[in-house]
Amino acid sequence: MSEAPMTAQLDAQGIHKSFGANEVLKGISLKAAKGDVIAMIGSSGSGKSTFLRCLNLLEKPNRGRIVLGDEELRLVPDRRGELKAVDPKQLQRLRSRMVMVFQQFNLWAHMTALENVIEAPMLVLGLSRAEAVERGDRYLQRVGVHHRRDAYPAHLSGGEQQRVAIARALAMEPAVMLFDEPTSALDPELVGEVLRVMRSLAEEGRTMIVVTHEMGFARDVSSRVVFLHKGMIEEEGPPSEVLARPRSERLQGFLANSL
Ligand code: ADP
Ligand code: MG
Repeated sequence: MSEAPMTAQLDAQGIHKSFGANEVLKGISLKAAKGDVIAMIGSSGSGKSTFLRCLNLLEKPNRGRIVLGDEELRLVPDRRGELKAVDPKQLQRLRSRMVMVFQQFNLWAHMTALENVIEAPMLVLGLSRAEAVERGDRYLQRVGVHHRRDAYPAHLSGGEQQRVAIARALAMEPAVMLFDEPTSALDPELVGEVLRVMRSLAEEGRTMIVVTHEMGFARDVSSRVVFLHKGMIEEEGPPSEVLARPRSERLQGFLANSL
């Protein structure tokens, strides 16, 4: 039995991560209730991506606990003192319920938009091709790129590619969506179309953790802002407090530079 309250969709406790002698995460704890949209902000190198990657074990943390819904990921230290999943099936289940959208989209270049979206639902969730296509069409529609379903990534704009990547994440019908600077690789004129999709996902009550430099999004859409500094949470709270009345000098400095 987990001790997490029923409302916690994600409960990460005391995540530590070092690369060699470089301690990048110094014990980060983060809880997300259903419908929470958590904006993670912080300078380049503060550990934001590493934290997201530790949540689904794309990086192996050295210490910490990860509970998704009522299921704790069972972890065991390997020879290097990094935590690995005891049960690969459990890890795969966790990854299918907590999906990541990357800065660089990471679409498979040799597959069309639709094929990108239906691959994991077929392989991981065991949907038939017909079921997956039905679902894929629905989510491509949802993010406004259905008319591009048969195009290859190279023929899509950055904004279209990222929306396909979001459709691919949605097609897993995950409990939690992780976004790592989803608009940072986009030309400025394409940022809006992706932010609009993300805003609408937030409005329909999806649980999201969004690493972002888009302060407008953090201010208007997030329920909580977490400011990371050198691998620690320096300040967190509702955007009306953290962004409007930052307490720490570091956050004040960061925000002054983000305008
Ligand atoms: P952010 O996303 O906040 O910019 P990162 O999580 O990417 O920060 O990086 C945090 C720190 O960890 C940086 O000092 C970076 O150089 C280091 N780091 C990240 N990934 C690796 C890696 N695979 N190997 C070694 N060092 C890494
Ligand atoms: Mg990063």
